[in-house]
Amino acid sequence: MDEAPIVVEGLSHHYGSGELRKQILFDISTEIAAGEIVIVTGPSGSGKTTLLTLVGALRSAQEGSLRVLGEELRGATPALLESVRKRIGYIFQSHNLIEALSSRQNVEMALRLHGGAPGEIRDRAVAMLEFVGLGERLDHHPSQLSGGQRQRVAIARALAAEPKIVLADEPTASLDKQSGRDVVDHIQMLAREQGVPVLLVTHDNRILDVADRIVHLEDGHLSSFKEAVLASNSRMMALLAESTRKDDLRGQVDALSDQEFGDLLDEVTGEAQRFVEGVARAGDGAFRALLDQALSAFTYKIGRLCRAERASLFLVDRERGELWLRVAQEEGGEPVEVRMPIDRGIAGRVARNGVAERIDDAYADPDFNPEVDRDTGFATRSVLAVPLIDRGGEVFAVAQLLNRGDGAAFDAEDEKRFQQFAGSVAVILEGWWRLADEPDPTTDPTPDPMGSEAEA
Ligand code: ADP
Ligand code: MG
Repeated sequence: MDEAPIVVEGLSHHYGSGELRKQILFDISTEIAAGEIVIVTGPSGSGKTTLLTLVGALRSAQEGSLRVLGEELRGATPALLESVRKRIGYIFQSHNLIEALSSRQNVEMALRLHGGAPGEIRDRAVAMLEFVGLGERLDHHPSQLSGGQRQRVAIARALAAEPKIVLADEPTASLDKQSGRDVVDHIQMLAREQGVPVLLVTHDNRILDVADRIVHLEDGHLSSFKEAVLASNSRMMALLAESTRKDDLRGQVDALSDQEFGDLLDEVTGEAQRFVEGVARAGDGAFRALLDQALSAFTYKIGRLCRAERASLFLVDRERGELWLRVAQEEGGEPVEVRMPIDRGIAGRVARNGVAERIDDAYADPDFNPEVDRDTGFATRSVLAVPLIDRGGEVFAVAQLLNRGDGAAFDAEDEKRFQQFAGSVAVILEGWWRLADEPDPTTDPTPDPMGSEAEA
């Protein structure tokens, strides 16, 4: 049986000795399979770089076991460490390119360590640089390249000799969003093409999606990313954990004062980035159901805060050209899932145009679909519908209020308030939508939309 290229078992590490001895890593265990991309997240000082240098045979392991490419590195001799290092490709935060050499020469230098005819080395260097999109920059020196380009040269250099493992330490640090994205996309492409495992350390949440698996390091302790997300979204999770039934949570959220609810939404939104990414990764049924409850409770509460008789959220399913009602407010209503073509109805119009709308008299609107009223016995008067925009700038959902409670039409103040709340909910919704995209391994993927009067 083939062992995984990286096997860590009970690995601990300390720096210094005597009074100055400081333990950095505690009993770390994990395995990285061939072709797997694993991201290690964690705050600064948590021990990420230390872990990477141990796996990279750049320092010897002190305690526990660390097997890399079949070699035990605990107590390894310098000669063994060196032979392992030759089979590893390193990409560091500071690219470590040699300023006096061109892109091509930097890559060639790494290849020369492994021998080969000069012509072959040259061809290989050029091919690698072309692969990372720098075919036009072969003779440029590092100072003539942008940060993202330099980092791509470093990737070409790290992967040119076809290493058996790739280690990257904060490869996107100090790069703007797009360059960072390019860099990890190239690492991913090359890793996939060569079938090598990648261990990538980062605290850049924007690139987590390239990982097959994310682990989290905090104060030298390793945990799964899901555990870490749950821990870091304490307010949200505490709220969700307290309620086992939908109505519990709805009651709880509803009992909050406007101020308290605003604070809750702020906190949840503040935790948003990690939350969205975390839930998308932590794809399990129980978690999904909790999120579903939170959305219904929040939507209900927001509807009440905005003085509406009903509130609903529609997700835009572009692939099917449909609007999909996932959360709606109607107590005691039969749960019905509503799908409707995106080219119909007021919500559809808002989804298509990306512009909020206030409609004082729904029945006078040519797009209004009165059938839903007929089916549900509801009498729609006024409508307030706002688009929710995802991070890519696309409308991914429409939030909608029906009938202001006092009989008047919705005004600009209502719209502003609704938009504000809806923005917070959008953050949760976006993560949830991603979950909804994936097949749920444990339960029926259809949540309880709590109402049928979807369309206005
Ligand atoms: P991270 O990469 O997560 O920021 P590091 O592994 O670089 O964390 O550092 C973890 C801790 O170990 C920090 O407190 C750091 O100061 C300490 N440390 C790192 N390298 C050394 C070293 N060579 N000697 C002593 N302490 C170190
Ligand atoms: Mg570091």
